[in-house]
Amino acid sequence: MRQQIAAANWKMNLTFSQADALLQQLKATSFQLTEQQQVLLAVPAPYLQYAVQQLAGIHGFQVAAQNCYAQKSGAFTGETSLEMLVSLGVTHVIIGHSERREIFGESNELLAQKVSLALEYGVTPVFCCGEPLPIREANTQNAFVAEQLKESLYQLTAEQMQQVVIAYEPIWAIGTGKTATSLQAQEMHAFIRSELATQFGAVVADHTTILYGGSVKAANAVELFQQPDVDGGLVGGASLIATEFAAIIRALK
Ligand code: PEP
Repeated sequence: MRQQIAAANWKMNLTFSQADALLQQLKATSFQLTEQQQVLLAVPAPYLQYAVQQLAGIHGFQVAAQNCYAQKSGAFTGETSLEMLVSLGVTHVIIGHSERREIFGESNELLAQKVSLALEYGVTPVFCCGEPLPIREANTQNAFVAEQLKESLYQLTAEQMQQVVIAYEPIWAIGTGKTATSLQAQEMHAFIRSELATQFGAVVADHTTILYGGSVKAANAVELFQQPDVDGGLVGGASLIATEFAAIIRALK
């Protein structure tokens, strides 16, 4: 079975003491994760080192960064390099979240550079794609997402692609309380998998973990995660509440 992942994206939320309280609540909860199940906590950059220390030895839990820069090092004030992430024990990085694309103007081309560099450093990219509402309303979401995949991932070899996690996040469902139906999620995930099969081959496509993101909560996680091509979720708001996120983790296949 493919890796099933519950990924928390805390975004720019929580003071350090609030973040610590959430970490301790999660640590105090018992999860019997299988070998195929994994939990990622994408915490704000200042808390990465602390989160790595706190989660060391907790089976199946790893720490992710919410972003990285596309250059190795140098005069890029305010940015975080992949080398820094590796030096802290961070194993994953979210790349191309729609907030980075929309608020910070990150292009498919820049994201391609970030994905390639992350792989060079052995950090797993959690690559986000997904369409805005007008594209969904025009029913052109497949072409839109296919373009995002092509422009940011198709520079990779099949071997490299095996290290990438994809998160499909329809922008109209992020932070809006409006979730894609399980059918809409399944259709897009199956489409993404078929695109990957065409570009990288059936074996890679079959092994790629594809997460759904967009108002996932305890109440809808089971139905979403039961879809055959949905391999877990990338969760914003609901990941800030320990009991909610715990229930989402338990909903993993
Ligand atoms: C996200 O930030 O990636 C996200 C899906 O947020 P939310 O779960 O709040 O919609």
